[in-house]
Amino acid sequence: MAAKLWFLAAAASLALSSPALAAEGATAPDLSAANARLTAILDKNYPALEALYKDLHLHPELGMQEVRTAGILAQNLRKAGFTVTEKVGGTGVVAVLKNGVGPTILVRADMDALPMEEKTGLPWSSKARATYEGKDVPVMHACGHDTHVAYLIGVAQALSAMRDSWSGTIVLIGQPAEEPLKGARAMLDDGLLTRFPKPDFGFAAHVTNLPAGTVAIKAGASSSASDSYSVTFHGRGGHGSMPAATIDPIPIAARFITDVQTVISREKDPAAFGVLTIGAINAGSAPNIIPDSAEVKVNLRSQSPQVRDLLRGGTARSAKAAAMMGNAPEPTITYLSGTGVLMNDEAMASAATAALTPVFGKGLLYAPASGQPMSGSEDFSEFVDAGVPSLFFGIGGYDPAVLADLKAKGEPVPTNHSPFFAPKAEPAIRNAVTAIVLSIVAGVRPTPK
Ligand SMILES: [Zn+2]
Ligand SMILES: [Zn+2]
Repeated sequence: MAAKLWFLAAAASLALSSPALAAEGATAPDLSAANARLTAILDKNYPALEALYKDLHLHPELGMQEVRTAGILAQNLRKAGFTVTEKVGGTGVVAVLKNGVGPTILVRADMDALPMEEKTGLPWSSKARATYEGKDVPVMHACGHDTHVAYLIGVAQALSAMRDSWSGTIVLIGQPAEEPLKGARAMLDDGLLTRFPKPDFGFAAHVTNLPAGTVAIKAGASSSASDSYSVTFHGRGGHGSMPAATIDPIPIAARFITDVQTVISREKDPAAFGVLTIGAINAGSAPNIIPDSAEVKVNLRSQSPQVRDLLRGGTARSAKAAAMMGNAPEPTITYLSGTGVLMNDEAMASAATAALTPVFGKGLLYAPASGQPMSGSEDFSEFVDAGVPSLFFGIGGYDPAVLADLKAKGEPVPTNHSPFFAPKAEPAIRNAVTAIVLSIVAGVRPTPK
């Protein structure tokens, strides 16, 4: 996950609804006994979960390289009584626990770290290095996925110990490669929904720089779709002094770069969110050589299927038209990576808000479907789009005293992906476990189809 988070927008916005209002009409089950029991289980298990988080933080692994992390996760899920399958979609882990009649429920944690140098100064700072796109790079858990692996183990332990409080089947997944937006797709392509019990609905949680103690729920769209393409314009190379003997791909690429923005400015509804960024241009070597190709890399962000289709179609159309205008062959358009808008099921959002408000009090932040989603992306959307309606929680990870100190100094709060991102494992891990386990115990269900 990246960029501006809706959790922050939600916290700062006056549009934020009070949980009681948001959950109006929903009857909250009394979870106090379940919460007391869960708290006792967490009191016992938490020290080991925090030690595990610190170990993962010291040993971060990049997407599709999470061999050690997946091994630790698999071992702990087996210990909690789950039947575990490894190497699903690369380094993914799937763990199943059957507990009588009831729905099949997915809970997902992502496992990957980022190719960047840690500057937090934490005693358990990472010094790890790895190979990324052929280069030796430092590696850091700068998005908090280490806390996610720890919460997934906490969820497994709690659900296993509280089998008399729920019934159905739990499918836990340790997902690789969320950051490049590839791991969810890889697990689905490797038969996640056919080789294992097919989930009826699901949960996930992400640690953020909101104050520790907060649990954020956004109904409806909660992240942006992201689509990245490589567009290669083909020409005919030659001497810079003899353009008539060539087809120059550089002015074709230049025309495309300016024309394609009219998809945003002239074709898209001005009120709808949509961003089109040209992030890279690769062409040519010397002033007097006309190259035979030019590559442009495009990233699209949208928050509705309509705008997503418009941007994708408009990009391809503009590229083909620019090539045609330059009398060049059709460009080669290659999809690099991407994912759709993460839609939180509205019934799950409101039922979880009703159930969890007595547990988290003012810490429970609810943002309605009309609220602005974050501009970043999250490939948990792949599971939702594959037919698993879900709820994705935002979990606050920053000590309120640290936030107040930064505010007083006029300094920004480190976001996810900052080299200074240092969420507090306590209470983030406990709160993620609590939000997910109590939602399952409370019988939170998606909108009927
Ligand atoms: Zn991230
Ligand atoms: Zn993330």
